[in-house]
Amino acid sequence: VIGIEQAKCIILQETKEGKCEKVRIEACLGRTLAEDIFAQNDLPPFDKSAMDGYALKSMDTFSQGENRPKQLTIKATIKAGECVEIPLKEGETHRIMTGAPIPEGADAVIEFEAVEEREGLILLSKPVRVGKNIIRQGEEIRQGERLLTKGSLVTPAEIGVLASQGYSTARVYEKPQAAVISTGDELISITDKLEKGKIRDCNSYLLRALLEREGARISTVKLITDEENVLVNEIAAAFEKADLVISSGGVSVGDCDYIAAVLKRMGAKIFFHSVAIKPGKPVIFAKYKNKLFFGLPGNPLAVATTFEELVRPVLRKMQGTSSWQDEVLYVVLKEEVTRDIKRTKYMYVAITNEKGVYYAECRGSQSSSHLMTYMGANGMIIIPQGEGKLEKGAVVDGRFIKGSK
Ligand code: AMP
Ligand code: MG
Repeated sequence: VIGIEQAKCIILQETKEGKCEKVRIEACLGRTLAEDIFAQNDLPPFDKSAMDGYALKSMDTFSQGENRPKQLTIKATIKAGECVEIPLKEGETHRIMTGAPIPEGADAVIEFEAVEEREGLILLSKPVRVGKNIIRQGEEIRQGERLLTKGSLVTPAEIGVLASQGYSTARVYEKPQAAVISTGDELISITDKLEKGKIRDCNSYLLRALLEREGARISTVKLITDEENVLVNEIAAAFEKADLVISSGGVSVGDCDYIAAVLKRMGAKIFFHSVAIKPGKPVIFAKYKNKLFFGLPGNPLAVATTFEELVRPVLRKMQGTSSWQDEVLYVVLKEEVTRDIKRTKYMYVAITNEKGVYYAECRGSQSSSHLMTYMGANGMIIIPQGEGKLEKGAVVDGRFIKGSK
């Protein structure tokens, strides 16, 4: 039995960054960039007006006397997208729309609302400072500047920036291919009739969803009985089409728990077989032909926990992300919690934010078979191993369960 931190170290050490591919920017959402992106142009590419108004020479607006509005003569109108090549002379103004290029000779724009327009003239009662309402060329982005960094997550903002620079594609990390295998003689497919002693295979659906939420593509999903020979063949077949194979069930010490024996027969290298966590103690991590294998326990809550703690960091690293786990929060216990002497305990809870402080309240039975507890929780807390209890008010590490609110 090894500790959770040691297990994570081993796993991350054995995980390699995945391959990269060039993808249309529309399809980059949620992916990780595999290249730095540099600006191809200044943004904006020219000096432009920030307002609908009048382009003018600021000098012209400073000479007015008390109660004598200054007059400027309107010479032209410039719409966005147009270039008007009539330079402004003293005493003149061009009407200009938001986003249109500032004409030669102008150094400020006064917005429509601030002046009176009358018979081809505008009347100004106040001076206008140099540069007012002008967005300078390159003010936001300079050509050649690094805009995005390899390893960053592509959100809608990154897609907008890529588009603003004329990039229609970007290099991102490939989605890992994962195979899912549910094992157990008691399992039936969800469309079969429930008979005595049987239960529906929910883990393959749970795992598939967990994997897809982390960006993986599913190559195969199989439901297999507890037979060594069949397992050897099916696991080997799953590796043909996947970077990562994940099974559930059959990793404990029961008569029909064959996964460890099967991996040995296949010649896979087993790194560990048991981790000091609750739920999810029996969990296998192995490597076969340089690909990764996880043998997760059969109980659904243990599947979810071992996935969040051990599999998710692998998927993130394969996809080039450096944040292997979601942010850890400091959470105050709303009730006392019994510790486990030998294992780190994961508890599914309701995390609430009261005046900027996070609190945790338990959500139902923490028994490893209770998927309803996982469903009803928005977060998990991590209780370090040790003797006795953690009192109400104690502070522990917690996380929101990704995707929940
Ligand atoms: P095992 O780890 O194979 O001993 O299974 C532990 C428990 O999880 C048993 O009660 C199984 O019936 C249950 N279980 C195993 N696989 C699944 C599955 N795919 N869906 C739902 N429950 C399962
Ligand atoms: Mg079983």
